[in-house]
Amino acid sequence: MSDRAEPGFLQPPPELGNQYDDDRVLSAYLRRSLPAGVLAEIEPELREMGELAGGELYRASLADRRNEPRLTRWSAWGERIDEVEPTAVWRRAERLAAERGVVAAAYERRHGRFSRLHQFGLAYLFTPSTDLYSCPLAMTDGAARALLASGERELIERAVPRLTSRDPERFWTSGQWMTETAGGSDVGGTETVARPAPEVPGGWRLSGRKWFTSAVGAPMALALARPEGEPPGAGGLALFYLETRDAEGRLAGIRIERLKDKLGTRKLPTAELFLEGVPARLVGEPRGGVRAIAPMLNVTRAWNAVSAASFMRRGIALARDYARRRVAFGAPLADKPLHRDTLAGLQAEFEGAFGLTFRVVELLGRLEAGEADGAERALLRALTPIAKLTTAKQAVASASEVLEAFGGAGYVEDTGLPALLRDAQVLPIWEGTTNVLALDLLRALGDAGTAPLAAEVERAVAGAPGLDAPAAAATAAVRRAGAWLAGAAGAGRQEVEAGARRFALTLGRALELALLVEQAGWSLRHEGDPRPAAAARRLAAAGVDLLGEVEPEDSRSLALDEPAALEEPARRR
Ligand SMILES: Cc1cc2nc3c(=O)[nH]c(=O)nc-3n(C[C@H](O)[C@H](O)[C@H](O)COP(=O)(O)OP(=O)(O)OC[C@H]3O[C@@H](n4cnc5c(N)ncnc54)[C@H](O)[C@@H]3O)c2cc1C
Repeated sequence: MSDRAEPGFLQPPPELGNQYDDDRVLSAYLRRSLPAGVLAEIEPELREMGELAGGELYRASLADRRNEPRLTRWSAWGERIDEVEPTAVWRRAERLAAERGVVAAAYERRHGRFSRLHQFGLAYLFTPSTDLYSCPLAMTDGAARALLASGERELIERAVPRLTSRDPERFWTSGQWMTETAGGSDVGGTETVARPAPEVPGGWRLSGRKWFTSAVGAPMALALARPEGEPPGAGGLALFYLETRDAEGRLAGIRIERLKDKLGTRKLPTAELFLEGVPARLVGEPRGGVRAIAPMLNVTRAWNAVSAASFMRRGIALARDYARRRVAFGAPLADKPLHRDTLAGLQAEFEGAFGLTFRVVELLGRLEAGEADGAERALLRALTPIAKLTTAKQAVASASEVLEAFGGAGYVEDTGLPALLRDAQVLPIWEGTTNVLALDLLRALGDAGTAPLAAEVERAVAGAPGLDAPAAAATAAVRRAGAWLAGAAGAGRQEVEAGARRFALTLGRALELALLVEQAGWSLRHEGDPRPAAAARRLAAAGVDLLGEVEPEDSRSLALDEPAALEEPARRR
């Protein structure tokens, strides 16, 4: 008998099927939301994307796991070139995104107000198998939207046909250059200066340092800068359009200092740039930069929520497949009540995140088709930050649980699983952190308070018989949020700001639950499917109201561990 150690039992890795056909939540939602004719037209495209995402692209991304983009600063003969070489998956993803219209479908508007559902359906399937290529696509989509909103005819004619092209040779991606060392969330700190330059076609040159610029290979960017002489703060900023390369293909006054060494999103080249008189063109008014870039941010925030929902769905698909294969204590994990309960919790959070995200997508489609009334526009304005911040937090928690569902394998790099968690962690940080968006929500609500959101909850839960308990939980949470806001506003701005995150997350969960109740009612009535109702009950059980009973004084002293005011010992009993 040989003493050689044999490998023994080998665990088969998790596998993915067609990511459209396997996604009950996506397909049921589309059946409810789209006219049958539209669905029949777009379904073959979604199915093809689902096949690629679960097959070729998923395998390519696993095989390319170790590769990262590379920056070459100097040519062999000493010329400064600053070339960034993308990974193989990125090169493939760029062609595919153009050909399949992952941005273009929204602008071709073949399906009127449903065009955003078409496009984001594709994006949702494409995203988790393409190593964060969704980031340049989000900025590209956002740039097209911001340019169209600017009304700048010449720029629109030059750039938008490229940003929305299906021809990979013509297709351009765009960067979004805002963040600086002194100005991240607070763009008012922007130090990049714009100087009039009549010698260049755009009439301006930008100089300064951009601290985070993702997808740095993009041929164009929209950048915030302060025209010389304009006042400090956000009010003195303008938006500029620039092309990154000159007619000879050299970087136009741009030095790539280094690529960031990041926790995740490692396939995405995120650079620090020095701008040394980059030729640029003003978009809009010299003091209207923040307003002019807002349409871009609304679109990138919608992409963020779509990415969050897609990451959650991918983690669950892998964990579910593994649960059917992995045997422990004499049975597959899928037969263990506690493991099933864990997966059920993940699925409920995903269904909530999906519904809120696609409600934003639906409203965006109506807005762009000119079919949104005033109430829907106000609703979209409020739902965008809510969806971004709520789903991003859920995606991180979900990815962490998914890794645990694989046991040790979830912690081992060559399974490809740890990237799920690292990549998800960027979602709450970029495009506005949780706190920054919670404050943005307060601005969006303004004098109307929570009324538009309460109306949305009421609308969604109406006509969903048999779902009284989750419907009541959603209604109670949105009412409580409204009462909290009124009370905190009476106590002053400090109190409102201190609770803004708990307020925003409560609204996010209430809306997710209400929209899930709406889907559940439809699924029961039209398809006899009780699963969305089960998800709604489960989401409600996980807790909706996150406001809690928090004493503002406690937050002040706990945050920096400083006593607000020492109490008299005698009074402390
Ligand atoms: C991988 C990656 C890629 C990126 N790509 C780009 C890009 O392409 N283009 C670009 O412009 N930027 C990009 N960013 C930058 C990103 O958008 C910023 O990091 C983000 O906006 C936060 O800004 P900051 O880093 O300055 O953090 P800060 O603004 O310093 O925030 C630090 C903390 O303070 C909190 N905070 C800030 N203000 C308040 C307040 N008023 N009240 C309560 N809390 C507050 C925040 O929530 C956060 O938790 C990227 C970032 C990452 C990680």
